[in-house]
Amino acid sequence: MSAAMPFTGFPIDRAGLKRREAEWIAGRLADPGSDLILLQAGQPVLEMQAAADGSRALLRLSASALGALPDGVPTVFLGLEGDGRAVFAASLPRRFDLETSPLAGLGEPAEMRAAAAGILVGGELALAATAKDLFDWHERHGFCARCGAASEIAEAGWKRVCPSCGAEHFPRTDPVAIMLPVRGDQCFLARNAQRFPRGFVSALAGFIEPGETVEEACAREVMEEAGLRVLSSRIVSNQPWPFPSQLMIGLLAEVAEGDAVLDLDELAEGFWFTRDEARALLSPQGLSFDGVTWRAPPPLAIAHHLITAWIDAQT
Ligand SMILES: [Zn+2]
Repeated sequence: MSAAMPFTGFPIDRAGLKRREAEWIAGRLADPGSDLILLQAGQPVLEMQAAADGSRALLRLSASALGALPDGVPTVFLGLEGDGRAVFAASLPRRFDLETSPLAGLGEPAEMRAAAAGILVGGELALAATAKDLFDWHERHGFCARCGAASEIAEAGWKRVCPSCGAEHFPRTDPVAIMLPVRGDQCFLARNAQRFPRGFVSALAGFIEPGETVEEACAREVMEEAGLRVLSSRIVSNQPWPFPSQLMIGLLAEVAEGDAVLDLDELAEGFWFTRDEARALLSPQGLSFDGVTWRAPPPLAIAHHLITAWIDAQT
């Protein structure tokens, strides 16, 4: 299942130990044989041409293209291809106009969420999302959390160091438990009060708090949001989610008998669905009731795969 999960399947060797070798990194960045991908404001720059199936690849330039970019653009080292080629990403300034630059006509930025829905696929998507995570983090963490001084990029983009107090800061990933409450032949899906219009339901989700296991967070969230008591839970999948850096950890949660009692600040309404109904929710036609056609998340989201895993678990 994880092979089909968007944002998974990072395609190259991260070569993490090389990040510390500043001279080696500088040498590879200056090597025209190294590859460079581009992002602008978190949007990956794609090749202009689409393949027959509508997918498009990341624009891959020689690292010498850095010469066509403004001085000091942030770069990160993503890793090594199988043939030893180094792959870097650069973040174009928001005001940089690709179309009037020497790179005009080679590629164009695409909104990440739209690109992830079938345009940028497989390892290409994982590569772009990883670069987005790193650049997002650098943009939001320019100052030392300990002393407030401006910090600097270190270790090829995988660390920030404070020149004033010496503190080291590492890219953060926030773990989120996302769970499907199930009981017998039914699963529970709900509509988020703020984010979803009527007609859209999904699994429950919440940040894992300090001191919690994934399973404890799952039980707490299901009780807080839906008033259902979790008897047991099982992690079935996980997914890096770059909006911004989160790790979605998907669980199936067996819940005890009893009615759902919703936290109405979080959830507007919730329903139990059979496997056949859940299958319909995932289909393009959706499931009609209460005069509305209801749908569940598309394959982009882990919730889709979680529901699918539960449907398939019966057979
Ligand atoms: Zn500091």
